[in-house]
Amino acid sequence: MIKVNKKLKYPSVVVLFCSKNHMIFTLCINRKKPCNHKKTTTVYMYSTILMIGTPGSGKSMLASRLPTILPDLTFEEALEVTKIHSIAGLLNEEKAFINTRPFRTPHHSTSTISLAGGGRVPKPGEVSLAHNGVLFLDEFPEFNKSALEILRQPIEDRTVTISRVNATITYPSDFMLIAAMNPCPCGYFGDKKHHCTCTTAQIHKYTSKISGPILDRIDLHIFVEPVEYSQLTSNEKAESSAEIKKRVNKARKIQVERYKELGIYSNASLDSQDLNTYCKLDDTAKKILESAFTKLGLSARAYTRIVKVARTIADLAGEENISFEHISEAIQFRTLDRQIFG
Ligand SMILES: [Zn+2]
Repeated sequence: MIKVNKKLKYPSVVVLFCSKNHMIFTLCINRKKPCNHKKTTTVYMYSTILMIGTPGSGKSMLASRLPTILPDLTFEEALEVTKIHSIAGLLNEEKAFINTRPFRTPHHSTSTISLAGGGRVPKPGEVSLAHNGVLFLDEFPEFNKSALEILRQPIEDRTVTISRVNATITYPSDFMLIAAMNPCPCGYFGDKKHHCTCTTAQIHKYTSKISGPILDRIDLHIFVEPVEYSQLTSNEKAESSAEIKKRVNKARKIQVERYKELGIYSNASLDSQDLNTYCKLDDTAKKILESAFTKLGLSARAYTRIVKVARTIADLAGEENISFEHISEAIQFRTLDRQIFG
């Protein structure tokens, strides 16, 4: 049974800054002030993120800016992307080699086949075209259920298998999933300025379109708040995309180096067997994770994902070990679903 808390306090806030000539943004962990840049957490590379926000809060804009701060493609990654796009018949003389991260935005009416891949001669679908890049699914609950369910394999295995009568083909599909949705059918649940007209049953029906197993695979649940005028005119200088990107590239480099023997590029690709070797938690970090487990009733899958997110937070901070702070921040990101989805 869902319990909807109408006095919901969101743990995380995303603040969008709009400077005169260009849009910049910062993901920011809730603090009363708009943004404390020392504490700012940027996008976790190759995580799965669910952005929940009222209409016009800037979810799509935020997603579309993501590629500007993602780490540059390595040559190997660019080759992988190019191969997939070549198989899909998307290359031409002008675009013969892809050296930027893909950003795919299929509409919610898209078919399961075009999302997963398929056809008589199975071609890669959106989940593979987004390989090494971003898959942005706006209006997440509006996608048909079977289309959403096929996301489970790629999120888990980073590949997708298409079975046909004559053949079974596996394509790579290691993408960063950005899903976006309104908090309720009218869109204003949790909004300070508008009144939500939905009943508890309506909100339940809407949110339950996203199944537990899918939600369990999403690392970060963040509430996107509309930009306040005072924030736009704030004298405080926000970190620019270029600055953020520098930091992200540095964290990425650490990961490529750390995993060179495993042949993977990021924390997200780490198998659970290798988790203990590369993601060492100190005693306090272990304790807080244990207690969060009991309190939030998290699954074993959630455990692995939280540790990996904490690893990335530590990398972004340039720290070798995962501390209490990193793990608490990663856990904080998992609590939103428990509040909204009950
Ligand atoms: Zn509502």
